[in-house]
Amino acid sequence: MTDLEQVRRLVTEIPGPRSRELAARRSAAMPAKMGSTMPVFAARAGGGVMVDVDGNSFIDFGAGIAVVNVGSSAPGVVEAIQRQVEDFTHTCAMVTPYESYVAVCEALNRLTPGDHEKRSMLVNSGAEAVENAVKIARHYTGRDAVVTFEHGFHGRTLLTMTLTAKSMPYKHGFGPFAPEVYRMPFAYPYRCPTGASYDECGPSCAEAAISAMTRELGPDQIAAVIVEPVQGEGGVIVPGAGFLPAIVEFCNANGIVFIADEVQSGFGRTGTMFACEAESIVPDLITTAKGIAGGLPLGGVTGRAEIMDSIHGGGLGGTFGGNPIACVAALAAIDQLENGGLLERSQAIGATLMSRLRELAQHHDVIGDVRGRGAMVAIELVRGGGDKTPAPELAGKLLAACHQDGLVLLKAGTYDNVIRIMPPLVINDALLDEGLSVIEKAFASL
Ligand code: PMP
Repeated sequence: MTDLEQVRRLVTEIPGPRSRELAARRSAAMPAKMGSTMPVFAARAGGGVMVDVDGNSFIDFGAGIAVVNVGSSAPGVVEAIQRQVEDFTHTCAMVTPYESYVAVCEALNRLTPGDHEKRSMLVNSGAEAVENAVKIARHYTGRDAVVTFEHGFHGRTLLTMTLTAKSMPYKHGFGPFAPEVYRMPFAYPYRCPTGASYDECGPSCAEAAISAMTRELGPDQIAAVIVEPVQGEGGVIVPGAGFLPAIVEFCNANGIVFIADEVQSGFGRTGTMFACEAESIVPDLITTAKGIAGGLPLGGVTGRAEIMDSIHGGGLGGTFGGNPIACVAALAAIDQLENGGLLERSQAIGATLMSRLRELAQHHDVIGDVRGRGAMVAIELVRGGGDKTPAPELAGKLLAACHQDGLVLLKAGTYDNVIRIMPPLVINDALLDEGLSVIEKAFASL
């Protein structure tokens, strides 16, 4: 909880003895290569810090991969969970419903973009949300084809891994993949696949994608187009301006269900409740998870009432989906996001990150690109001196140096060369500054 001292303080070597002991148990008990980003084991986390089992206090620039936007063990979330645990832990929402599930759906319907009538359903994870969104879109349209994008990430289940772009490690050797999934170019301004400039990338890639969908698939064969409004795992890629609105327009004109996967970009991460708001796009369906419930596993699909209501009885559901503990946690987390000034805080964090990192890029030409929106920011590392060849080894070294120096920091990117910064939105300014200094120091030392 928030009584955790908000400091960076290392008291042992990293990893310390207790973490090393647990790592040995871990490798004996778990699949050999199921690694972790950090070399240490967590004992407590809250605010802007994570304390390991040896008592080392790290600044958290990862938020559990954009999950604890309101902080880990946020006080309101903890209280809500404690109360719920005393009442009941599970009935199954399909057997005996409960109010908190309905209240989370009402909140999602209210907060997601668009003022049309909406319905929501709850699931356990981001992947399950995406699975359900595609199921719903196919049933509603009676069509098969699903369009996804280069650099996209949508999960690790059969369908969502198929939708995901990157082979190693997500898909390698895990085929055969699900049928009727087609991949289109994404407006990645730093590496525009059509060769357009940073500013022209959006319209140029939209034209390329729409032209390919029209020629190669046939618009009337496409059930859904799914896209992350800001790509996360692919490298925090903010699509070139104009790309998403053009794709939405194409979908609307052709009866294609436009699905925004806001699993990572949602719940204040990009400075608004949902990333779609930046270009005022209104998805037909929207998938959520990660930041929804302050660290409890929960996901959702929210969409137009006529689409969601078209599914037959018994067609949607699951044993654990919308677990009551996760639902009350979500209500508390959403309340803090809406009423605790966290959207403004996300914008302020983003402004600090962008200005300090742009300054850093002035001194290190291996920083090819600084990009992001709100508190979802990244630097892309390249060989430098005008050479945009990805530099994954450098990214690995920088990451390790930061971990050794007390910073939780994540990597991303199709080319493994992106350093991604996504702190809890409750991190204080002192920790934010100090975490940036750790990164600056790591650059200086390499
Ligand atoms: N969609 C996006 C955009 C994601 O970032 C992720 C997780 N990184 C997923 C889906 C899958 O979510 P989960 O891991 O909860 O299944």
